[in-house]
Amino acid sequence: MDTGKLSDSFHASLQRAIVDGSPNGVLVVNQDSAVVSVNERFFSVWGLPIPASPIDNLLFTPDSNQLNQVALLVEHPESFIERVLELYANPEMEDICDILLKDGRTLQRHSTPLRSSSGEYLGRVWYFQDITEIINSRLALDASETRYQTVFQTTFDVIAITRLKDGVYIDINDAFIEKIGYTRDELIGQSALTLNIWFDPADRQRFAERIRNGEDKLLLEARFRKKTGEIFWGMFSVSRIELDGVTCLLSITRDITPTKMAQDELIGHHKQLEKLVEERTAELSKAKESAEAASVAKSAFLANMSHEIRTPLNAINGMAHLIRRGGLTPRQFEQIDKLEAAGTHLLNIINTVLELSKIEAGKVTLTQTKIQVDSILANVTSMLQARAQHQRLRLITEADPTPPNLLGDATALQQAVLNYAANAIKFTEAGQVTLRVRLLEDNAEDALLCFEVEDTGIGIEDHVLSKLFSAFEQADNTITRKYGGSGLGLAITKRLAELMGGTVGASSELGKGSLFWLTVRLKKKLYTASNVMPRTLESPEQILIKRFPGHRVLVVDDEPINREIAASMLEDAGQIVTLADDGCQAVGMLESQRFDVILMDMQMPNMDGLQATRLIRSLPVGAKVAIIAMTANAFEEDRMRCLEAGMNDFVAKPIEPQNLFAAILRSLEQATAAATH
Ligand code: ADP
Repeated sequence: MDTGKLSDSFHASLQRAIVDGSPNGVLVVNQDSAVVSVNERFFSVWGLPIPASPIDNLLFTPDSNQLNQVALLVEHPESFIERVLELYANPEMEDICDILLKDGRTLQRHSTPLRSSSGEYLGRVWYFQDITEIINSRLALDASETRYQTVFQTTFDVIAITRLKDGVYIDINDAFIEKIGYTRDELIGQSALTLNIWFDPADRQRFAERIRNGEDKLLLEARFRKKTGEIFWGMFSVSRIELDGVTCLLSITRDITPTKMAQDELIGHHKQLEKLVEERTAELSKAKESAEAASVAKSAFLANMSHEIRTPLNAINGMAHLIRRGGLTPRQFEQIDKLEAAGTHLLNIINTVLELSKIEAGKVTLTQTKIQVDSILANVTSMLQARAQHQRLRLITEADPTPPNLLGDATALQQAVLNYAANAIKFTEAGQVTLRVRLLEDNAEDALLCFEVEDTGIGIEDHVLSKLFSAFEQADNTITRKYGGSGLGLAITKRLAELMGGTVGASSELGKGSLFWLTVRLKKKLYTASNVMPRTLESPEQILIKRFPGHRVLVVDDEPINREIAASMLEDAGQIVTLADDGCQAVGMLESQRFDVILMDMQMPNMDGLQATRLIRSLPVGAKVAIIAMTANAFEEDRMRCLEAGMNDFVAKPIEPQNLFAAILRSLEQATAAATH
């Protein structure tokens, strides 16, 4: 066997197999730089077409076409060729370098000499590997690393990477060092626990627990301690990451101390504000309570004063009335006149002050009963006639025809007009006072009326006129001295007109006279003619004497003087009077005696009028008897309480005799009407 021959072909095959099987482009040249072996990869690596018979025609000699052809593909051909020539010139030289191609790729070239076992130079092997992808991914990695480092180091947030298993710091950023105050060497290899960075062990505990429970990302607020011992609030955000197969925690901590301080301050302010609001609310409710108490006290005071003043006034006026009937000398008549005038004046003042207080306190509720407009004017005229005559003034009435079915509060309306008319007479020295009613609107449901009072008196200056309807305002201080008055009349009229859906106004000329007006809107109601009381010129007292003599009247009052006055008046009017000191006595009397009318005081010891009335109403004998309140409690609420208790009517003290007789007359007429039905 020719081992030499076999050996040659074996070597040739082996060489062929190695070259062809190489993943790199391989080119083998002999001592003359002629190509002895080349693989297909060589051509594809360079981006060259594969020749039909590669080896025969290929030369890689310094001046060969092939070398130049390859050099054309290279970014820097001169230095490429220069290096190849240098390697050919130095057969012992090894070389490894990167070649940048014009198409953007990079080849790594490895050139190594081939030697025989005796060291003789046989040629050279060139390897070419496309390392473009390797370079690109290395570049990408570098860029990512740069980015990461930039973020890591330039952020203001404190960043640390710790090992999960023991919390040891693996990496920290500059902000961490700056904030916490330890150097990098002091930190790396240590943990937050060993450096005592957690301020509150409970926070650390909570954090550790959440990590143990497998939370991947967590966010918590905690306080941390710097190397100096100073504490700061941090918003601590932690994520679990894998680094080279080791589970780590990436923590980012943001200093939120200023926010926390602002929050604390805000909470402080909030608490302070809440405290202030609470205090203020308490003060206000206290003020409200005391205002309510004051209002209650004021109402009670007014009611008491009214009662206290009316009671003696009743005695004064009543006694004057009785004395007058007893027959007097002309001089005494004159004195009694003055006494009565003074009493009436005093009563008017009390009524005015109380009226305004009641209106202002919203305590006035107007009644809705049928109203006869001309009788209002007639009443006002008759009340003022004597005074007008005394001053030699003409008192004229001019009235438009008004609907007969108007509803309203006749007393309030009369009061409003009376205030104007009384002023007109007071402030007019000569000439006339005209009372007028004009029908401004006549609708199906209501009518708008205007009441005017015109005088030829002293008049009022323009700038004063507008103020006069306010309480306590008078045109001139000297007026009070000359004419008297409280300055409340116009205010009352204004408020009453407003309560009746109207308004007020005035025009005046100094020295010539004034015109005061008020409007009211009155509702309409259809009623039958039988409801209308026949008008008569006789006084209630006269009718009582004529039509109802000898009726039995029980007067219940704890004040002996009041009992005496009432008894005298009633006896003068032809009635039979029995007296009782209080409710108890009255109820007792009712068991044995029969009465047609009971005059009942409200406030009395033992048993008051309301209680007594309720009791009487519960007795069989007392169910029908007429009970009339006769009381110094003159408010509307008092009237309501009396009616609720079962009384039929109400007469205010001081008793105006004709009012009392009218009330008794009404009761007796009703009783007669009921008996005949
Ligand atoms: P009083 O008459 O009690 O003072 P009023 O409120 O009724 O209170 O009137 C207020 C003031 O308006 C009077 O003091 C007076 O100055 C003026 N005044 C009212 N009516 C007239 C009038 N007809 N003529 C002139 N002045 C008047």
